[in-house]
Amino acid sequence: MAGARYTPPMTVPSSASDRDLGDLFARNRAWAAAVQQRESDFFQRLAKQQNPRYFWIGCSDSRVPANEIVGLLPGEMFVHRNVANIVVHTDLNCLSVLQYAVDVLEVDHVMVVGHYGCGGVRAAWDGRPLGLIDNWLRHVQDVAATHADELRGLADTSALYDRLCELNVVEQAVHVCRTTIVQDAWRRGRDVTVHTWVYGLRDGLLRDLGFAAAAPGQVAEHYARAVARGFTPRPG
Ligand code: ZN
Repeated sequence: MAGARYTPPMTVPSSASDRDLGDLFARNRAWAAAVQQRESDFFQRLAKQQNPRYFWIGCSDSRVPANEIVGLLPGEMFVHRNVANIVVHTDLNCLSVLQYAVDVLEVDHVMVVGHYGCGGVRAAWDGRPLGLIDNWLRHVQDVAATHADELRGLADTSALYDRLCELNVVEQAVHVCRTTIVQDAWRRGRDVTVHTWVYGLRDGLLRDLGFAAAAPGQVAEHYARAVARGFTPRPG
């Protein structure tokens, strides 16, 4: 019927796991009601179009929810997440999301966001076999190999993991800059800046590693600056 508001069907839980899922639907209804109470036409407006200025490439870790960390509402940030926030030159999934973000949504900022305590980064360093994902984490091992001299100098294991999280973010940001998508956008004069952030699980705060490349000629300089910066205590 025209103009009628759609009401999701109520489900009858039949098992303990169904009841868990039923709880998620209840939470969803409460959330939607609260949002609508604050802004009555929020969903109707959002359904017509999204206009995010930011594209977040982060880790799948459940403790690093992109929108929530920066206090943004639905519609305000485009997001791609995978284990250990990796940007692989031939990953059509990540590249497609990046292309849509840059070319269609015309975001102004792309941020690669890692986090301290990343299980993917730790597993990559430890080399403990976990299955198929070992192949994916080879990309983090490539980062470790690139910075082997520095990492070998870190006696404290937790500092080593933290530093590898930082270095991984910087290397993946360079991968973003090298994609045809960002290179072409810069060639066309598009104002899009690539950033490197690290999130702290212990304090809920983001750190900016200082990489903010907005043109091909800036990448090497920003790479050197971000690698030199870092927040992990290092000898010397
Ligand atoms: Zn992670």
